[in-house]
Amino acid sequence: MTTLHLICVSLAASRQVRDNRRLAHLFAMTMTDFACTRCGACCAAFRVDFHCADLASSEAKGVPVALTVPLTATLVRMRGTDEAPPRCIALEGEVGKSVRCTIYEQRPGPCRDFAPYAPLGIGDDACDRARRRHGLPPL
Ligand code: SF4
Ligand code: SF4
Repeated sequence: MTTLHLICVSLAASRQVRDNRRLAHLFAMTMTDFACTRCGACCAAFRVDFHCADLASSEAKGVPVALTVPLTATLVRMRGTDEAPPRCIALEGEVGKSVRCTIYEQRPGPCRDFAPYAPLGIGDDACDRARRRHGLPPL
């Protein structure tokens, strides 16, 4: 096999990897459509507390301070998540039908870490619990 042939094979392989990643991303986006964007139960079920390092500042993007309430010197809570019934102020839409996190790109750590496979249609205990509270079946 010539050097040129090797380069072509490796370019084709990396293109294939890129295509696979793109497909996986599209698949995840589609599943997100069917799972989380038609749910939102966890945004209207639990308190969402996080370190103030996730807040927006003059140097960094983050959660707008106005959407939070202070808890301690280092902890804040998403406004609305400790009300009865709980509902995060950043949640838009109707739970179980069609929802959107209005600060999705800047959402805090606990939201990023919650039920990581739910967008792929695979829930976990916490996801199931949140959905149950809203009369929704587990994923
Ligand atoms: S993580 Fe679970 S509870 Fe939260 S929006 Fe997605 S499916 Fe619903
Ligand atoms: S910040 Fe966004 S993802 Fe987190 S609880 Fe509120 S609406 Fe849900």
